[in-house]
Parts: sequence; C-alpha cells; structure tokens
Amino acid sequence: MYLTNKINLSIDRARRPLAKTHRSSEEIAKLLRRVVAPYRAYITTETSTNVDLGRIEVSAFFEPLPDTDTYAIELVLVTHPQTTSIKLRALVLNTFLFRVSQAIQHELIHAHQYRQRGWEGWSSRKQAPYNISHSAHYLSDPDEIDAHAHDVALELQRSRLDVSRLISARTITKDESLTLWGYYQTFPPHHGVINSLLKKTVSYLAYLPSTNRKTSK
Ligand SMILES: [Zn+2]
Repeated sequence: MYLTNKINLSIDRARRPLAKTHRSSEEIAKLLRRVVAPYRAYITTETSTNVDLGRIEVSAFFEPLPDTDTYAIELVLVTHPQTTSIKLRALVLNTFLFRVSQAIQHELIHAHQYRQRGWEGWSSRKQAPYNISHSAHYLSDPDEIDAHAHDVALELQRSRLDVSRLISARTITKDESLTLWGYYQTFPPHHGVINSLLKKTVSYLAYLPSTNRKTSK
C-alpha cells in the first residue's frame, strides 16, 4: 500500500532501543507506542499458551470509535504466560517489526474498505498470525481475502519469492509466507478462495514499493 515505506520508517525508529537488552512485553509495547501512534494504532499486551516460550507475536484489531467517522487499531503483543523477558536478536527483531508493520497495514486496508462504504457495517476483525488457521468462514470473507492478499504480498516480497513459480507450484513453507501457508492449510490449492487471494496478491505486488530495509544493524 502507499503507506508501506512510511510505516516501515516510523517503526524503524524503535529498532535501536528494542535491540539493546532483555525486555518485558510491556516495555516493548512502551517503546513502540509512540512510533505507531501516527497510524491511529495503540498497543496492548496479553499472554497465551498458543505462543511458544520466549517468543513474541503480534495480533491486531480494527475498531470503530463511537459517534465519529474514524477508527482505532489495537495491536496486541502476545507472549507465553511464563515468558518474563525477551531479547530481540537481529533476525527476530526484523521479523517482529515486519509483523507490526504488516498488522497496521492489514487494519488500514480494513479502514479503507469501511470508508468506501461510508463507514457502514462496522465489525471487529482480528488478525492472528501466530494462529493463522482460522475458520474457513473468516478467511473467505472478501474483506479478509483482500487484506490477507496484502499480507501475502509483503511476505513474498520479503522472502524474495518468484511469484509465477509459486502460483504454478501452489505450495509454500511457513517461513516463505505464513499467511499463504495458513490459507493452504484451510483450503485445497485450486479452491476459489485461493484463486482470489493469489490474484489480489499479484496486483498488490505490482505496486508495492520496493524494499531497501536494512536486514541488520
Ligand atoms: Zn482482517
């Protein structure tokens, strides 16, 4: 989306402080709060046994603000109940910041969808990359196909995958694209939902700004 580079640059300002030391998820949330605020996003934390010990995952919600024509994005940092602190080493930090950026963009796409409908039909929508095998009902919602196609486009760009080869092979690993992998866990390779998802992914890839993000620091 047109904000991809801007969002990445904002979030990158938290890279150096986040990389320094062991931090609790609340401390990580505090360091991120200011850099995500320009996108109407705020950060909360929660624990879940669905997340592996020592890991941190990002979930996001899109919510209307009562009596306004605007919205807020809630980013939830999820850790295992027994994880007290996390040291974000370079590769882990890269992935974590990527997920934060991706989640904001996913929810901004929902904001755009609702804006186009005159803010009618509000509903809370959830994105949970650590548990992508949601119900087929959720993943086949046209709004979700659209937003998840953007997630896939970002992931494919990040893993520098040849998209034409991917589309003919119809197979992918969790590391190459967690989102597409999740769709393949839920639908057979030539299902209509997969076809729409891939079609939209290709069109997002066509105008996604090229990345020149640093891979380590
Ligand atoms: Zn969504």
